[in-house]
Amino acid sequence: DVFARTKAVEDKVQGYVTVAEKAALQQAEAVDKKRAAGDTLSALAGIPIAIKDNICTKGTLTTCASKMLYNFKPPYNATVIEKLTAADAVITGKANMDEFAMGSSCENSAAHPTHNPHNLDRVPGGSSGGSAAVVAAGEAPLALGSDTGGSIRQPASFCGVVGLKPTYGAVSRYGLIAFASSLDQIGPFGRSIEDAAMLLDAVTGHDPLHDSTSVKTPFEGSLRANLNADVKGLKIGLPKEYFGEGISDAVRKNVMAAAEAYKAMGAEVFEISLPLVEYALPIYYILSSAEASSNLARFDGVKYGYRTPNAGDDITELYTKSRSEGFGAEVQRRIMLGTYVLSSGYYDAYYKKARAAQRKIREEFANAFEKCDVILTPVAPTTAYEIGSKTTNPLEMYAGDICTVSVNIAGLPGLVQPCGFDENHMPVGMQLIGPRFGEQTLLNAGLAFE
Ligand code: GLN
Repeated sequence: DVFARTKAVEDKVQGYVTVAEKAALQQAEAVDKKRAAGDTLSALAGIPIAIKDNICTKGTLTTCASKMLYNFKPPYNATVIEKLTAADAVITGKANMDEFAMGSSCENSAAHPTHNPHNLDRVPGGSSGGSAAVVAAGEAPLALGSDTGGSIRQPASFCGVVGLKPTYGAVSRYGLIAFASSLDQIGPFGRSIEDAAMLLDAVTGHDPLHDSTSVKTPFEGSLRANLNADVKGLKIGLPKEYFGEGISDAVRKNVMAAAEAYKAMGAEVFEISLPLVEYALPIYYILSSAEASSNLARFDGVKYGYRTPNAGDDITELYTKSRSEGFGAEVQRRIMLGTYVLSSGYYDAYYKKARAAQRKIREEFANAFEKCDVILTPVAPTTAYEIGSKTTNPLEMYAGDICTVSVNIAGLPGLVQPCGFDENHMPVGMQLIGPRFGEQTLLNAGLAFE
């Protein structure tokens, strides 16, 4: 059982902020009763699922791994939680993350860092590092994470599990504590392609009441039923810019080997060019920080969460002290950067330019998908690194997001799965990028390689 496993490994992995054993056992018992009564149950009935700690769970702490929300128990469920509960899934607890999903290593958590189950001295990736680690460690077979600029895909790669960032709009964001609303998407982690397909089937769908950016998808819950591992004739593009300088040999070698495996299975594999990836990082960090500075304005010490005890009766001091004591260093850095690029005099030079460049990246991908069905790339320049080795240099940390952020900028789906190991036995992942709502094609291609 997953809680016995959690007891055995959690003090080493530390993948959770909150373990919800009691509530989970109650949910499981209720499912047992339904089963005994002969009710027809969904495929997820009784299946344990870990939830990233930025997804609201009614009555259960939802902290975003931040001191700012250390005591926040949401009065409502996110739409994805409503859907999982209706499917009788069992929620095991809230998985650790970088504070407010800002980071790539889980080291920005105010709770504690999470350790990579493949080597406890290394990071699990981020920001959904806890979700990836608990799946890799066998503490839960499935997990939900969120991906604004790689936060599902990079930890899946570092921990050797499957992770899928759905097309923007495929999953309701209602109840996901917003980082950058135009980029955020909730998505599944699992140990196999089939598991990830099943979990996405359960949470996808139009949410007209609560998220006007959600849409009815063409696959609408039928991904698992339509899995098909035939890749004969599938056109796979390899963008040469993703395999150049800065990508480690182990990553390049393993992803190239995957390309060869696809050729052997009858796929058509050829080189393409996506030169604008060069601008992806500045575009992403300008747009995401701008949106974050606005989204995080609500945390002011008044409505919920942390309130400074040191403000006397001065309201401005209450705001500023609550925010400077409640937010960690990385979150404050993003708020400052975001406020700067939105301020008058700089708006045109940074924010407006980044939005224009975003359109160019979208066009570039759209043109690429005239020639190929999917695009195969590395997920990150390296495999999981040592805890503490990048914390002093934020720019170096940001540089690790080069292969993932364009997918969010263009609103596309991206699937990550394991494709080998490096010389230190750390997992290497590969990324398949598809056109909007190309999830079925991605999962089918992933299944063929598995
Ligand atoms: N690592 C990226 C960042 O720090 C991506 C985060 C995410 O996808 N939530 O912004």
